[in-house]
Amino acid sequence: MENLSALSEKLKHLIESKLWAKVLIAMCLGIGLGLVLNSLKDQLSVSLVATLANWLSFPGKLFMKLIQMIMIALIVSSILTGITGSSLEQLKNVGIKALFYFLITTIVSVAVGTLVAMLISPGKYMPVGFKGELLPSDTDKLPFNMATIPDMLLRIIPENPLQSMITGDMLSLVVFSVIIGVAILHLSPQIAQPVGKMLEAVQSICMNIVNGAMKIVPFAVLGIMASIIATTGTESIHGLALYVLAVLLGLFLLLIFYLLLVFVIGKINPISFLKKSKDAILLAFSTTSSAAAMPVSLNVAIVNFKIRKSLSNIIIPLGATINMDGTAMYQCISFIFLAQVYGLELGFLSLGISMITIVAASIGTPAVPGAGIIVLASVLQSSGIPTEGVMVIIGMERILGMFRSAINVTGDLTACVVLDKVLV
Ligand code: ASP
Repeated sequence: MENLSALSEKLKHLIESKLWAKVLIAMCLGIGLGLVLNSLKDQLSVSLVATLANWLSFPGKLFMKLIQMIMIALIVSSILTGITGSSLEQLKNVGIKALFYFLITTIVSVAVGTLVAMLISPGKYMPVGFKGELLPSDTDKLPFNMATIPDMLLRIIPENPLQSMITGDMLSLVVFSVIIGVAILHLSPQIAQPVGKMLEAVQSICMNIVNGAMKIVPFAVLGIMASIIATTGTESIHGLALYVLAVLLGLFLLLIFYLLLVFVIGKINPISFLKKSKDAILLAFSTTSSAAAMPVSLNVAIVNFKIRKSLSNIIIPLGATINMDGTAMYQCISFIFLAQVYGLELGFLSLGISMITIVAASIGTPAVPGAGIIVLASVLQSSGIPTEGVMVIIGMERILGMFRSAINVTGDLTACVVLDKVLV
């Protein structure tokens, strides 16, 4: 709780500094500068263009380096603090069923996201010029049949977690963190407590670095937008607009799915569900964080929906930490968009593996602003899509972050309503 209020303080500060407004202004300036440079392209010498491009992309590259530096520690510590925040009994009684429910809704989200991204194919509208190389994973090399499934499953348990950290193998890292988390819950309180404190500290240290790096974002956005538009002209604006549209459409479909669950299983009118949830949803939207909205979500669940305290007290905090359907949707559509931008053909198997990785990645995404895109970088890395791809979409990150956080919180409240009916 102490940690949470410190986090809320930091978020308040970030909002007060109006990062989103700065990003929006930087994006407009970047597009303007890019258009000017593009019109001057023929008059400028090649070396001057190269020098300019290098300087323009410097803040973006600096941001990426800082984020990559803490990425793994942030993911691992976030999952571990999520699991060790509850007790073994809580985890056994309600937690396992809630985890199963969270997994199903995340899979639905990723499946819908894949469909939307494939149908709209926003990346195909981006100009050619980006190049990437899809990394064949070990699993890709296995022929897919009943005999090989056990081997495929075993591969997600890392023989050497350090190796997984170096190669950025997200799926293995999430599995590793979950196993260690459950093992920590089996420790005696005296031994478990300092471990929990240390994990919280690691997560806070990483978040301090992320908050520092966020200050560079307006400059990164300006430079990246300018260099993309300067080299490719207005063509990329079309592709980027379609990408934003695809993510918003995906999130809207997810909302419809939740309202259906609430209506059919929870027996609550969807409009009244939204009205009762609005405080939590709007807070998540404005702070871009489901962690910041968590105390209000808890209040909404207990007071507005009259859900049993014993249930809400586990589902809301656990959901805020690991149930991120909006984030999974965003990561899935961004992943497919960037694969298209880099001209990579995703086969059925590699798409399937990437989607499983995204389900795991959304679980490992901390509930704070900008976390979704940071974790996306490691998903890209594990699939061979250049992590610099993140720079192509960073300009739109803030606004999409607000929408996906609001959906994440709606998903947690839906889980409460549904599980309250199912687990009688
Ligand atoms: N900000 C999101 C949340 O708190 C996580 C994300 O960045 O996707 O729910």
